[in-house]
Amino acid sequence: MLSELMSADTCAQCKYCCSFKSTSLWELPTFPAEAVKKLAKDTDAKFSIEKDGKYSFARPDLSGEYLSANPAEEVPCPFLDTDTGCSLSETDKPFDCKLWPLRVMRREDHLLLTMSIACPSIMTWELEQLRSYAQEKLRKPVREYVDKHPYIVKDMMPGYVALIEI
Ligand code: SF4
Ligand code: SF4
Repeated sequence: MLSELMSADTCAQCKYCCSFKSTSLWELPTFPAEAVKKLAKDTDAKFSIEKDGKYSFARPDLSGEYLSANPAEEVPCPFLDTDTGCSLSETDKPFDCKLWPLRVMRREDHLLLTMSIACPSIMTWELEQLRSYAQEKLRKPVREYVDKHPYIVKDMMPGYVALIEI
């Protein structure tokens, strides 16, 4: 979704975004419940099913994967191939990951498309360029997805910058 903005070379060196600390499990990608039935059958991945109002969704279940109580320990997503990157097809890859390093976040009554400042690839762009791109190319499809899958919305967190309201 953001391939025009991202650098494959930077990603290959960085590999930041597919491993998770126990303190940042809220960053784990969310999968629609129907996608999980297929993935649980075809792979060894474990999921935890969660509910948000009338919507069910799932996240990879990393509990039990941490070897220490060190909050700096990172555990990879079960779909990360350390040589080739994400092993999921474009169809199966969760929207959260297609949108990364952008996220949909809520601040008070506002739904915002935000950007992680932890991604070196996106940080090479000017903020105003990103805002124009988000307004023209992302606002409509992201809003449509959020209306059908509202559980992808996260509370505004430190380390994120608001780009546009959606
Ligand atoms: S954080 Fe950004 S640069 Fe790093 S691997 Fe993820 S998308 Fe690529
Ligand atoms: S689903 Fe793929 S892109 Fe998303 S965190 Fe897991 S390995 Fe990374």
